[in-house]
Amino acid sequence: MTVRVRFAPSPTGMLHIGNARTALITWLYARAKSGHFLLRIDDTDLERSKKEYEDAIEDGLKWLGMNWDEKARQRDRMDHYNVKIDQLKASGRLYPCYETPEELELKRKSQLARKLPPLYDREALKLTDEQKKAFEAQGRKPHWRFKMNHTPIKWDDEVRGPVHFEGSDMSDPVLIREDGSPLYHLCSVIDDIDYQMTHVVRGEDHVTNTAMHVQMFEALGAKPPSFAHLPLLSDAQGGKLSKRLGALNLKELRDQEGLEAMAVVSLLSRLGTSDPIEPFTDIKDVIANFDIAKFGRGTPKFDQEELTRLNAKILHITPYAAIKARLEEIGLSELDEKFWLTVRPNLEKLDDAKEWWRVANGPVEPVIEDAAFIAEAAKLLPETPWTRDTWGVWVDAVKVQTGRKGKQLFMPLRKALTGMEHGPELADLLLLIGPEKTRKRLGT
Ligand code: GLU
Repeated sequence: MTVRVRFAPSPTGMLHIGNARTALITWLYARAKSGHFLLRIDDTDLERSKKEYEDAIEDGLKWLGMNWDEKARQRDRMDHYNVKIDQLKASGRLYPCYETPEELELKRKSQLARKLPPLYDREALKLTDEQKKAFEAQGRKPHWRFKMNHTPIKWDDEVRGPVHFEGSDMSDPVLIREDGSPLYHLCSVIDDIDYQMTHVVRGEDHVTNTAMHVQMFEALGAKPPSFAHLPLLSDAQGGKLSKRLGALNLKELRDQEGLEAMAVVSLLSRLGTSDPIEPFTDIKDVIANFDIAKFGRGTPKFDQEELTRLNAKILHITPYAAIKARLEEIGLSELDEKFWLTVRPNLEKLDDAKEWWRVANGPVEPVIEDAAFIAEAAKLLPETPWTRDTWGVWVDAVKVQTGRKGKQLFMPLRKALTGMEHGPELADLLLLIGPEKTRKRLGT
């Protein structure tokens, strides 16, 4: 059996880190099993769905290195949903209701006052044809509810284990609005059937929905797929993720924070699993290491600082070939492999490479506190051509000549050459700066 899964975002906002996690885990699930990955745009909410969000979702997925085998849009499938809706009406599983929102609210309050669960009382099932006609004559339009069977609903969730609901504990959900438009639940189940989904991976905020969906699959004559409900991310303290804590959507993480896609992929693929968080530079390794069974029920904490640390670790091990395109993107197309290998241990974010590019190529304001010492050192600069040993040869000579050692010896040279107190290894940096600029910075 080929695994067939989908990621089904609603294009009503930017791709949030939590949704990106669901997308990635679903995608890894497919790729690890050579399965099929469908991108389904859940745009039944015509007012809130926007093309710009759909585009941003696609951009975000592509940025993280995810591709899709097929794409569908719910908006394009309305005729098809209507066929299925007619079937459900004919079989009596969808029934018309005429209560206004105010009437429903009154019912709810009176149930709560009597300490009863606020379940829909199914009064509409008792309506005669005359009563329905009378409502219509008043200009009322029906909304339609799905009649739940009062039977147990069970499934073996790939993350949560055995799950059990009772149909009798659940209100009959509204599946069609007064204006005739179908709600997400119905469209989602119809799509999951038509696109032959074998597994549905989504957030645990959908667990109760799944209980309803299981009965909808059956009402439409289909066997429900397997389900995996992932716990939702919290902030580093275990609270609700909030915008106030920093960047939470992929666009911000990429454009404002300047993070690498592989940092996000590495973190999201391990957060909430029994495996340690590790830096990956190639998504193929992430696929090879993926197993949904490793995802637990505990709430995974998303900490942007952890993401930044992982970003640094990834840069420190990223080969030149894998970063070349990114360097071009940030305007460092001339930065070659030797340069990359020299500066990568000093990067937290890729943009930091711009600073080291400037240090190597100028402009640099040399910091010279002891001009006599620097003048002395300048005189001892080895002959060209320089090699990686040049730095060692040079400082040995300066050491012998001036009697300085350790920090007293290195720091004034570093400050004169770079204008800074820290940075990449001087043995390598010296070669990147080159003889001409070195002499100039030393004032000779
Ligand atoms: N559009 C729904 C959401 O974004 C999809 C949930 C599902 O995977 O079925 O929550």
